Order: sequence, then structure tokens, then C-alpha cells
Amino acid sequence: MNILILGSGGREHALAWAVQQNPKCDRLIVAPGNAGIADIAECAALDILDGAAVTAFVDEESIDFVIIGPEAPLAAGVSDALIASGISVFGPSAAAARLEASKAFTKEICDAVGAPTADYGRFDDHEAARAYLAERPLPIVIKADGLAAGKGVTVATTTPEAEGALTDIFTGLHGKAEVVIEDFLRGEEASFFCLVDGEDVLPIGTAQDHKRVGEGDTGPNTGGMGAYSPAPVMTAEVERRALEQIVRPTMTEMARRGTPMRGVLFVGLMIEDGVPSLVEYNVRFGDPECQCLMMRLGGQVLDLMLACAEGRLHEAVVHWANDHALCVVMAATGYPGAYAKGTGIDGLDALPRDSRNMVFHAGTAMRDGHLVANGGRVLGVTARGDDLGEARERAYAMVDAIIWNDGFCRRDIGWRALDA
Ligand code: ATP
Repeated sequence: MNILILGSGGREHALAWAVQQNPKCDRLIVAPGNAGIADIAECAALDILDGAAVTAFVDEESIDFVIIGPEAPLAAGVSDALIASGISVFGPSAAAARLEASKAFTKEICDAVGAPTADYGRFDDHEAARAYLAERPLPIVIKADGLAAGKGVTVATTTPEAEGALTDIFTGLHGKAEVVIEDFLRGEEASFFCLVDGEDVLPIGTAQDHKRVGEGDTGPNTGGMGAYSPAPVMTAEVERRALEQIVRPTMTEMARRGTPMRGVLFVGLMIEDGVPSLVEYNVRFGDPECQCLMMRLGGQVLDLMLACAEGRLHEAVVHWANDHALCVVMAATGYPGAYAKGTGIDGLDALPRDSRNMVFHAGTAMRDGHLVANGGRVLGVTARGDDLGEARERAYAMVDAIIWNDGFCRRDIGWRALDA
């Protein structure tokens, strides 16, 4: 079959890498793609937020199946446009994507089904928000209600910091002036990934991300500096509780409201003493968690996605190899602040590319036949092993062989599982 993947990050490189291993994949196009993706698939220029343009492209290229990587096209209704044209798609409707696009909506659903999550207040009035804030204990979490690429959340430890975050939101820094103020949850975070076809839920793995730029989880937040899978904190019992108390009731409620979720549900959890609470839902794979999951799942992911899109998840089975994967993100010096583009990267050609070792590209480009950095997060150096220590050793061995004077990475990816 002919398959189109939408997106251009490390996540989409990993998706393309896994999908093209499946014999059902005859032709793979990624739009817009990147320099690494161009090695394994055709790349096409396309406005992926424009549902009509994507649908027309799908017709022209006789695409049988579309996989949507990032959240923006989902929130923009690209999945709806494709489904309305009778095209098979992996990725939820805009109505179901509200689980990610609106934090207030997710909180309301949690209330409706009694899913454990932090107590909160929701406001579109600055004074009312300030009054609520004054009543709550510190630390406190201030969240702009909308898609803010991870930049709309402040975990405030002082009142002035919390007030400042409110002022930012009510002066329109993140678009709409609406806020969710949440009590601070203690514990350890983990990401739990499930495929959902409206009714059935199929867990496909757990991971832990490293959001802060600095070692020991210090410094500003980023899009993610590394990840590993599975997350030891997600024991079978934690997973069972998360499914029974959070995921399944939410999915049932979404279906009852006439907006069933179909696609991958990324469940962000805080786990304290074996008890999970919901931090957030996303309706797409995390980046860089996806790099780890794809390395562990390989080509079977296409069968699972097809089963999901066709409402056949009840008959789908995940074949586990009892393995571990770890991804180290290499970023441009200065990221998440200002950074230079166009700096040269060497040494990749000498690295192995197989089912245990892959360098996934995010912000890269080719210039005069040379690979250059073209973004903040640039490479996702990913390895698989029989245990996490082996995966980490392999990943850092590749990192050390990459010659990029203007890049950096954290040296402690996996520390919670391996060194804590
Ligand atoms: P992203 O999608 O990039 O993870 P987001 O903007 O969707 O971010 P959240 O995931 O809701 O926002 O919050 C970002 C981070 O802030 C979480 O990963 C978590 O570390 C922290 N956080 C959010 N809510 C809470 C909470 N109630 N208690 C403690 N920490 C929290």
C-alpha cells in the first residue's frame, strides 16, 4: 500500500523507519520530511495544516493510508477532512484532539468520570484567577488553556512567579486568555501510550522523558532531551490502575459524547506510592518517546495502526521482545534559547543503522551535499538493548562518534532508572 506520513521531526523519522519495515508498505511519502527521512522515504512539500491540500495530494498520489504525526494538523481538522473523503487515517478528529488542545476540556472530562487528577480552577477573568490563587498552597501550576508547545505551563514555587504567569496569560502571550490553575502533584512522571479505536484500548508501551535542558533535570524546559522505554515506575499494577481509573472511563465518555477517540493516546501520569494521577493527555506520539517506542515495536506498528484506523483493535496483538530502548537528543548549543543554524555535522555515515542502532533526524538539512543543523533539537540517537544499561551504552557510543562542534546533549539520560 501507499502510505503518507505528515510531519518533519524525529518522531516522524522514527515512524517512517518502523513503517517502511513492514512488507505491506510499498511506497512511503513523508510531508514535509527532513534530511534523514529523505534517506528512507520520498519527501514532499505540502501544507500539512490544510486539510483540502492534504486530501488533494492523497488523491493525486493514490495514497491508501495517512499517518498524522504532530498535534497541529489534528487540531486543525486534517483527520476529519481525510475521513470525510473516505481516506483511511491514523489520527483523531479535531473534536477528540481537544483532549490535548484544551486543558480545561480534559479537566471537565476527568470530573465527569471521576478520573484522579489534580484539583483545579478554570478562569477567563484575571481577578477571579488571582483570588483563587491566593487560596491555594504553593507550589502551584499555572496552565494556559490551549496548544502552547509545552511553553504554556509554569510550575510556580512563589506567589510573584504564579502572578507573573497569570499576567502573561491574561495579556495574551499564549493566544486565548484562559487559564487552568492546578494543585501541584508530587511523585514521578511517566508516559503511557495506548492505541484507541473508539472502544478498545491497546497499551503499546511506557516511557520516561527528560524535559529540562540540564543534567539532573535542571534548567529550562525543552521539547525533550531524551527518553527511555519501558519506564520502571509503570509497574503492571500502576498500568492496570491507569487503564481502569483513567484511560478506559475517558474513552467511554468521549464515545458517549459522540466524539470517540481514534489514534494514539499519550497519557502523562504522575505516580506517587504506586498511585497514578493524570497530568495531561496528548493525542499523538511524544517526541522523543516515539523514537524509543518505534525501535521496540518495529514494523508491526503499521499493522497496529491499520487495526486502530479500521476499528479492529480487539483482534490486535503486540509482539514484545522484552527489550529496552534509549534515545539521547543532540541539540544546537544555546537551545532552548537562541542557537545558530547551518553548522556542519559529520560522522553519521560510519554509524550502524539497524534494528538496534539508529540516529533519527529532527532539525537537519542538506547543504551542498553536507548535513547541517537546521533547528534546536537536531538528532535523536537511539539504541535498543536487552537491558537499559546496554541501550544507554550503545546510544552514547554513537553520540561520541558524531562530530558536531556546535551541538550538545545531556550525558545522564536514563538516570532515574539506572543511577537513582
Ligand atoms: P507538554 O505537552 O510539552 O508535556 P503541556 O504544555 O501540554 O506540555 P503539561 O504536560 O500539562 O503541559 O505540563 C507540563 C509539565 O509540567 C508536566 O510534564 C509536568 O512536569 C509539569 N506539571 C504539569 N501539571 C502538573 C501538576 N499538577 N503537578 C506537578 N507538575 C505538573
